[in-house]
Amino acid sequence: MVVRRPAITFRGLIVVAVLGMLLLGGGIFVGVNVAVEHAVMTDAEQKAQGWTDYFFQTMPGLEDLLITGRLNESQARVVEAAEKLGDVFRFKLFDRNGGVVLVSDEAAYDAEAPATREHSDIALGVLSSGISNISLNDGSGKQNRPPLYVEAYVPMLGPDGSTAGIVEVYIDQTATAALFHGTFAILAIGLAVVAALALSLPTLAYLLRTRQARASKERAEFLAHHDPMTGLLNRGSFNERLEARLDQAGGRDGLAVAFFDIDDFKAINNSYGHQAGDEILRHVSRSIGGSLGDGDLAARAGGDEFAVAFAGKPLVEVIAATERIMQAARQPIAVRGGSISARLSAGIHDVEASGGGLAEVMHKADVALYQAKIDGGNIHRLFSGEIESRKRVRRVLEQLIRDAVQDGTFALHYQPLVHSDTKRCAGFEALLRLSNEQGEFVPPATFIPIAESMGLINDIGKWVIDTATRAAAAWPEELFVSVNLSVRQFNDGNLVGHVERALAASGLKATRLELEVTESMLMENNQAIAAQLADLQALGVSIALDDFGTGYSSLGYLWQFGFDKLKIDRLFISALDLNDNQARDILDTIIMLGHKLDMTVTAEGVETENQARILAGLACDHFQGYLYGRPAPEADIAAFLLANLAGQAPPARKRRAAKRAA
Ligand code: C2E
Ligand code: CA
Ligand code: CA
Repeated sequence: MVVRRPAITFRGLIVVAVLGMLLLGGGIFVGVNVAVEHAVMTDAEQKAQGWTDYFFQTMPGLEDLLITGRLNESQARVVEAAEKLGDVFRFKLFDRNGGVVLVSDEAAYDAEAPATREHSDIALGVLSSGISNISLNDGSGKQNRPPLYVEAYVPMLGPDGSTAGIVEVYIDQTATAALFHGTFAILAIGLAVVAALALSLPTLAYLLRTRQARASKERAEFLAHHDPMTGLLNRGSFNERLEARLDQAGGRDGLAVAFFDIDDFKAINNSYGHQAGDEILRHVSRSIGGSLGDGDLAARAGGDEFAVAFAGKPLVEVIAATERIMQAARQPIAVRGGSISARLSAGIHDVEASGGGLAEVMHKADVALYQAKIDGGNIHRLFSGEIESRKRVRRVLEQLIRDAVQDGTFALHYQPLVHSDTKRCAGFEALLRLSNEQGEFVPPATFIPIAESMGLINDIGKWVIDTATRAAAAWPEELFVSVNLSVRQFNDGNLVGHVERALAASGLKATRLELEVTESMLMENNQAIAAQLADLQALGVSIALDDFGTGYSSLGYLWQFGFDKLKIDRLFISALDLNDNQARDILDTIIMLGHKLDMTVTAEGVETENQARILAGLACDHFQGYLYGRPAPEADIAAFLLANLAGQAPPARKRRAAKRAA
């Protein structure tokens, strides 16, 4: 984009202002000279008139003197005095015929006769007009003359108004002129200052306005290419520049694009407010800025997503820079209400290695980012073809889940749990089912983590609780139903209330409901989860620890949470078939530990009679597995229960803890 310059440039304005000042200065100079000359003449005229009046009144026998031209003693004294009066340094007397009668500094008029012809003519002119004649003369270089003087021909009027004669008075105006010059110069300078101010104020205002206009234009220009919050490039500019680089010869050398996304940014906004969210965005942009080199591009690609194009770096350095950025973002910053940090997921695409146009480059970095998110976040992933196909599959599943939530096409299947001794049904575990377009079940282990990351598991989980409690309410009194929980169902704090409502709505006794949690759920934020579990237990609901043995199997968790039930993962059960005593010993220990902590112990994945026999010998309480029944729709339960009742002996009532002693 070309920035158009204003019609008048700053330099042009200065030139105009200086020219204006010069013109003004010249004008003032000429003006001062004219004014001074005029003032000097006026002043001289007054002086000449005053002097003439004085001379006329003071000179005795003036009439005689004008005729004879001879000074008597008293007349000579007056002449002497008059010569020193005011600024008069010389004078001449003319008679009515224009003849020179007396020259103050000459003994006789004859001597000056040739030089006074012209003077006599002027005197005659004054005689006939009765009006004074004044001229200003430059005396520099002349003998007996001051630098500036005035020659004034003034008529001497008698009491009857008739002209007695003419006086030509020479007045030294050098000092007067200098005085006027000084005064006028000061005035002129003052005037010039005022004029300059009057000229420069609007100029300044104009300059400021153009500056401002230019600044806002530059700002608009900046905003057109940058994100206002972080100052990084915006997506459009980033794409433009990246595309230019891709098109450039050798532009792909050492080029890699990394996308960054803040993990759980929504949660930061929700818990700390949008201002804190903005702070985090700026924090991340600073973290990115700290790891940029010459030629690298960085943009806020929108929302909480950032894009960086690393230029001229080997991939290892790109990865190192990515990790540095993630590390910097993890440094906490202070915000209102606490200190927070940003965990980033990053997707890197090595452009040099794989090529492709802008759209493809961006897509691949996005796919890699997506994979980093799926893998739990706070991690970076490099683009690969495998990742891309995984993403495609995931997209399909996401749509499937969205549709199932919208259309209510999820289903629950129920898998029986049996008493280990009588093999009579103890209850059922509700297992979620999602069918794809071919009518096949998508494994819950595949779709549940996706539903979790889509933020849909809460709604789905509520539906599972509602459906399972309603189904179980129709079963025989002694059967329980077990429902799996996802950690996210604890996040909004509504779980206990929802379970309570579901029990009330279905009429199911709380003691017939069991909820399954896993150790991994308890690792983060376990205080809040522990409180909710305690509330659920207070309702009468049982809590089971699921998949025991696959996670940390920490004694601490068993101790701290007071579970009602322990479900041993089927990995341990299948190990029994290897016929090694170690698996048996471990199971023995786990079952004993469970009983010591007053828990009912279930073995999951019991598939063979051999497993069942060994487990029964270890006093395991419940069995769950294909040996007794696969997960089946609700409609199949009645038939299952009938067969179960017919085929098995009635359950013997015994206390859990007493079992081992027996
Ligand atoms: P899980 O809680 O361990 O559920 C038991 C899983 O083991 C079920 O798989 C069940 O079909 C399978 N199974 C049962 N007996 C046997 C056996 O003898 N041999 C073998 N090989 N497998 C057996 P499913 O239905 O695929 O569920 C997988 C996981 O999905 C569950 O593991 C549970 O963690 C999760 N899940 C299922 N339904 C829900 C739900 O409603 N909510 C949540 N949050 N998670 C669920
Ligand atoms: Ca389970
Ligand atoms: Ca399990």
